[in-house]
Amino acid sequence: FGGTTHFDIHVGGLSPRGQGRPPGAVIVFHDVTKVRNLESVRREFVANVSHEFRTPLAIINGYIETLLDGALDDRPMAEKSLKVMYKNGQRLTLLIEDLMTISKMEHRSAMLEFRPLDLREVFRKILHRLQSAVAERNAQVTIDCPEEVSYLEGDARHLDQVFANLLENALRYGTANQVLVAISVIRDADDVVISFQDNGPGIPLEDQPHIFERFYRVHKDRSRVAGGTGLGLSIVKHVIQAHGGAVSVESVPGQGATFKVRLPVAQAATETHPTP
Ligand code: ADP
Repeated sequence: FGGTTHFDIHVGGLSPRGQGRPPGAVIVFHDVTKVRNLESVRREFVANVSHEFRTPLAIINGYIETLLDGALDDRPMAEKSLKVMYKNGQRLTLLIEDLMTISKMEHRSAMLEFRPLDLREVFRKILHRLQSAVAERNAQVTIDCPEEVSYLEGDARHLDQVFANLLENALRYGTANQVLVAISVIRDADDVVISFQDNGPGIPLEDQPHIFERFYRVHKDRSRVAGGTGLGLSIVKHVIQAHGGAVSVESVPGQGATFKVRLPVAQAATETHPTP
């Protein structure tokens, strides 16, 4: 039967209604593989979330203990402790925000607001918000989005989050030297295809099929140190799918990565979830 099964046997001919009929048996097989798989996905998710929370909490508690043990009177030490605690508190906030977004997207309860939008406007806002990160990484970001391909119907707030995530990743995992990120938009039939190409280390082939999974990272420590929650690409995938689109990655390790987001220009009427 392929998967794990258990079965019940119902024997006929014993009940009053069965009287007079030839005795027989009905064997009902239940395939419990799916249920078990779901259960193990859920368990793994809870273990991952707990692990992600444990580290920053342990750091915060450690510094509180140090302060209570006397470091409070040592001004530079106290300041350093507070800064580390603040950074880890922020990390927990970010994790909760990302988890909430994923949960809403998975249950389709996110009220996406599909409206006509101008991609150039979305990119402008993101670049403005991330300008200090761009400067810090000494990055050069180019945007090629001609007016004739820049309009589509979508949820501006969630698409902003998607494109910001992709740009942040390109900056976060970029090369140590000059980080180059090329954002380009082209029209393909009824879709627009938005590409984010970077000149970073790229993604090993064996990791590529997994990077859109929750908490999957190529280098766990590198991602955490750089402030990643491991949920960014999972959010990207959910938001794009909720738009009826798709996201993919192409990468030759050592030669950068290109993330491609394909979005329908117009939303089908049935797919819209207007704000109540
Ligand atoms: P994180 O918060 O760790 O960045 P993501 O879901 O955004 O989580 O990404 C998952 C993993 O994919 C990252 O940890 C990183 O290993 C890899 N990755 C994502 N974007 C890039 C990129 N542009 N270049 C190289 N690796 C990347």
